[in-house]
Amino acid sequence: MAPFRAEIPNHFSLPRRINRLGELAYNLWWTWTPEAQRLFSRIDPQLWETIYHNPVRFLRQVERPKLNAVTNNRYYLDFYDRMFRSFDQYMQAENTWSQKAHPQLQDNLIAYFSMEFGLHETLPIYAGGLGVLSGDHTKEASDLGLPFVSIGFFYTEGYFTQRITEDGWQEAQYNVHQFEELPVMPILDANGGPLVISVDLPGRMVFARLWEVHVGRVPLYLLDANVDKNAPADRALTARLYTSDLDMRVSQEILLGIGGVRALRALGYNPAIWHMNEGHAAYLVLERIREFIEVGHPFEEAANLVRASNVFTTHTPVPAGNDEFPLWLVDKYLSQVWPQLGLDRDQFINLARHTVSWGETFSMPALALQHSEGRNAVSELHGRVARKMWNYLWPDRPENEVPIIHITNGVHTGTWLARRLRALYDRYLGTDWLENVDDLDVWELVNNIPDEQLWSVRQHLKRKLVAYIRERTRQRWLRGGWQPVQVVASGVMLDPYTLTIGFARRFAPYKRANLVLRDLDRLLKIINHPAMPVQIIFAGKSHPDHEGGKMLIQEVYRAVKRSESGGRLVFLEDYDMNLARYLIQGVDVWMNTPRRPNEASGTSGEKAALNGVLNFSVLDGWWREGYNGQNGWAIGKDIDYDNPDQQDEADARSLYDILENEIVPLYYQLRSSDGLPGEWIARVKESIRTNGPQFSMRRMVKEYVDRLYLPALQPVKQEKQPDAAV
Ligand SMILES: *Cc1c(COP(=O)(O)O)cnc(C)c1O
Repeated sequence: MAPFRAEIPNHFSLPRRINRLGELAYNLWWTWTPEAQRLFSRIDPQLWETIYHNPVRFLRQVERPKLNAVTNNRYYLDFYDRMFRSFDQYMQAENTWSQKAHPQLQDNLIAYFSMEFGLHETLPIYAGGLGVLSGDHTKEASDLGLPFVSIGFFYTEGYFTQRITEDGWQEAQYNVHQFEELPVMPILDANGGPLVISVDLPGRMVFARLWEVHVGRVPLYLLDANVDKNAPADRALTARLYTSDLDMRVSQEILLGIGGVRALRALGYNPAIWHMNEGHAAYLVLERIREFIEVGHPFEEAANLVRASNVFTTHTPVPAGNDEFPLWLVDKYLSQVWPQLGLDRDQFINLARHTVSWGETFSMPALALQHSEGRNAVSELHGRVARKMWNYLWPDRPENEVPIIHITNGVHTGTWLARRLRALYDRYLGTDWLENVDDLDVWELVNNIPDEQLWSVRQHLKRKLVAYIRERTRQRWLRGGWQPVQVVASGVMLDPYTLTIGFARRFAPYKRANLVLRDLDRLLKIINHPAMPVQIIFAGKSHPDHEGGKMLIQEVYRAVKRSESGGRLVFLEDYDMNLARYLIQGVDVWMNTPRRPNEASGTSGEKAALNGVLNFSVLDGWWREGYNGQNGWAIGKDIDYDNPDQQDEADARSLYDILENEIVPLYYQLRSSDGLPGEWIARVKESIRTNGPQFSMRRMVKEYVDRLYLPALQPVKQEKQPDAAV
């Protein structure tokens, strides 16, 4: 146990009877326990919405009479006691999966490094899919009882808030977040000051303090360079995610990799397994080798020891997504590290050398791949692409023997499943279905859910989505500065009884948000069919420095704004985890149109499938494994193209044909005497039954344990180990 632990700030004045709400506000367990959220929302439902589901802010702002009222309400108090019993049971459980299945793991610690963590909309330290995966992984590690700590950054400004101008141009707004209003706790040293670690950057030391977030049983530590001891420019190092400034970026990654190891040491941890989630954290390799050299191992031995206990996950086949630095930058930032490792420049560059069209680079994934025993891609097809892409690191092996396995991504069921569906599954899948969420047999029982009950929840979720969108738009309109056409584009004309398709993702060109617009006349004809209309809801951000992505948003927005679209095409600003939840629970169909094979995995479609939304996607990433012919639809074929234009044309044609000839008629099929679309519901059940267990985060993390973490445990036992600093 770490000698330094954060104390839960005591800045709420709560009636003693409900005092523990403060503790709950600081443990994100509530984010995947929908009943627990009601402990807050019931006190003041309106405030709960206004402050965006942030319990820390909520408890600071809620009026005393409202708190007093619930302390006099017997039902609330019963509910409160019940929830805290289950919270305590969760936190103290000693019969977790990990304890039962892998007792040998219990004395070891897994340290998980990621540039971003998507845990909840109120903690804006994520940009997109990578972060949500890290967040879900951390939550599941808690559920399974793994000995696990996560480490990342506390971004004071987070990712940006997206605004779209009348002409469809994305503007980025940054807000400085107040730590007092977030579920983060400062870590203090023995003297009561902030615990601080440091790394060397050219000509100076840079300091970072640490914050802790309670994710159920797992601590997440966040580095924060915004401290007085740093020069102003360095204080901004951890202000924002994914800057395109190379100096800033390499500094951030030094702080994450090297500073992250030092932070764990300062906290008293001695991890047995080190997991780099994507290449951003790969500098931890250097710090760990340095540590072993310091206690007397020669370089080769040190590197082998580090390799044996490292695990690395690669997340993208797109070259721009793989971090690499020009060598002049490496000279500038890391030349003091070579001698510490006993290497000259050339030997050092060799740790991560990558030859690209314009010269040589220092590649973060190459550094990680060459210094990890466990390596994985995130879907079967991505595994194939990754083995090809990194074949040069194993030149004497054929492509299919490059040692990179695949573990397909999953999603954290409790986080993403609608509350009403959870209640329905509780009723028909057996009371402990969530404990066995990766068990295929459990999900066979989906067939027992009566059609009308499933359909009525699905309809409810769609009405809820439409009501939410309208209210959001009204609030935005009330604030002023908007043209009427922006109100239309934001979804006021949506109809809750029309077939609704969702498309929300990052606006990167390979995601082809404009594929569905390729033949606009044909699309307009489909969506405006008088008896069988269709609505499409778009959302998503582009990287603020990426003109290509912003132009794609503009292209979509201009189509949305046209009067010919009849208000049935919609673009929602500011896609985040909150909006994602509404969309993946509320629409009928989830569409994804990446240019194969660039998707790696994708996870939003998995969230949708879990909620009974049917996927309609290119056979790329997870859907290539999930699609079985009856649980959704495939756009295009399971083939590779050489010519992207041909590929776009074929995929677009397939998209329109299936939408027009299969999806729309099936949805509006003359309903039988009970008024239900029986065949549609059968597909919904098939989708839930097959995808629910297979793409659960539980299945995924268990695979990480069996195939990556446990193998990394074996060798290092008898060696001289670097110790924790305290
Ligand atoms: C799940 C999620 C993602 C990842 O979605 P993809 O399928 O990879 O597009 C991105 N952003 C948010 C807010 C999410 O919730």
